[in-house]
Amino acid sequence: MIAYLGRIVHENDAESRPDDDVLSICNALDLQGSVEYGSADVAGKDFGGIHSVKPLAFVKPSGADDVSRLVKAASRSPNLTVAARGNGHSINGQAMANRGLVLDMRSLDHQDRFRVVRINGSDYADVSGGALWEDVLKRCLEFGLTPRSWTDYLSLTVGGTLSNAGVSGQTFRYGPQTSNVTELEVVTGKGETLVCSETENSDLFFSVLGGLGQFGIITRARVLLQPAPDMVRWIRVVYAEFEDFTRDAEFLVTQPEGKSFDYVEGFVFSNNDNPSTGRPTVPLSPDQTFNPSRLPPRSGSVLYCLELALHYRNTDRPSIDTAVNSLLRRLGFVEHLRFQVDVTYTDFLLRVKRAEEEAKANDVWESPHPWLNMFVSKSNVHEFDQVVFKNMLKDGVGGPMLIYPLLRSKWDNRTSVVLPEGEVFYLVGLLRFTPPQTKAPLVEKIVLENREIVQYCSSNGIDFKLYMPHYRSEEEWKRHFGNQWTRFVQRKANFDPMAILSPGQRIFSRIP
Ligand code: FAD
Repeated sequence: MIAYLGRIVHENDAESRPDDDVLSICNALDLQGSVEYGSADVAGKDFGGIHSVKPLAFVKPSGADDVSRLVKAASRSPNLTVAARGNGHSINGQAMANRGLVLDMRSLDHQDRFRVVRINGSDYADVSGGALWEDVLKRCLEFGLTPRSWTDYLSLTVGGTLSNAGVSGQTFRYGPQTSNVTELEVVTGKGETLVCSETENSDLFFSVLGGLGQFGIITRARVLLQPAPDMVRWIRVVYAEFEDFTRDAEFLVTQPEGKSFDYVEGFVFSNNDNPSTGRPTVPLSPDQTFNPSRLPPRSGSVLYCLELALHYRNTDRPSIDTAVNSLLRRLGFVEHLRFQVDVTYTDFLLRVKRAEEEAKANDVWESPHPWLNMFVSKSNVHEFDQVVFKNMLKDGVGGPMLIYPLLRSKWDNRTSVVLPEGEVFYLVGLLRFTPPQTKAPLVEKIVLENREIVQYCSSNGIDFKLYMPHYRSEEEWKRHFGNQWTRFVQRKANFDPMAILSPGQRIFSRIP
């Protein structure tokens, strides 16, 4: 086996025929899964559409055993790396492996790997690390149950979001998805398969959560569940002033459970008729229109929308208006600029899938997405609004600009995620869409614009962290992790000492 791997890497350096060699490897490893030759191209691309590299092979492991064999085999070679690929929805090549093995984690997901377990009166779903959250939802609903903490879009994998954090409008209450799993099965960079939790192999458990794929490959996760509601009242209200928007958003996320909405998000939009970035993005159904004459006379070129949702059961339908009105009465949005619809819980959670279908129909789903996501401290968010939203981005980003508050106390500081200081911080998501067939120069220009925003924040003492970070130098990674850098490096030494895993994050170099 070692001889095979040595040959692969050397021969491949000379641009030989990798497919035959990979076939030899996989035969020698006696994998239950398969190697996909034709689709290796897929493994060299991601949603960002900015980077592409050529992997040696795209392997479809059938379970943790296969994953372990592949990692062990890589460790016996001088320079082979292994990247778990969830659904490839990263922006900057984080799930890629240049001339390494890319593992299609979705091939681990089989219906029979899903089960619901009840432990000490609470319900959990055991799910594959490669399962899409939309499938987890579907399966849990069959039991009348649902995970508590989501992402906005559900065609993402469990292992992929847990390697970052997984945030959405429920995070203020339940914490990110990393705060809502209690046990993982992980294949480390040494190829060991371990079960870990807060009490068993706890260092591995907390390392892997938010660990950017650096310490192990998540093959199974135990996700905390709660009873599923039937319906959702989905609401959008408009603000002309950032101060009013943040006051109300922060008020809602700091209320106790039962005294607020179940979901709180927000976004910035342009005060114009642009269908992708302006006022038409606010109404929730085709029969609703945004009447700009309702806006205060001195409204600026940028406006804010608070997006809210309240869950209910069909039997609670008669009282939902009262519940919603008593919450909305406490808010200071622009009168009459309120939009609402009632949708099923599933339709609400799958709302971005509809946007995906539209984007696909308009050919903009496949074009590059130079997205920038960050966490900005409450103490600097007003300055951020003045400089970034009202100035640098006053013409929008071709897609949504999300901004909503989160609470640090709902995050576990033992995980590998790093956050700004202070209890309240904001998720800022610049979800840029580019026109079909966008050429490289435009993408480079947008990437540069993102860098200027980050540069502005760094040079002006804004307390922020990139979410789904992307850096090129060790210096930048050190700055990103701050006083957690030593811990991150130590974790790497413990669990992936040869730096085999997730090379696309570009944090560590493979050690021969
Ligand atoms: P990939 O992009 O394939 O992988 C991400 C990283 O995790 C890579 O380094 C990879 O090697 C590693 N990895 C993948 N699987 C595993 C595993 N099983 N074990 C260990 N490491 C693994 N994020 C949010 O938090 N909230 C949102 O609302 C949200 N909305 C999004 C909407 C869209 C349309 C898109 C494209 C992305 C969104 N994201 C959101 C970002 C998303 O969380 C990341 O893209 C994340 O990486 C998950 O995507 P993925 O499953 O495709 O993982």
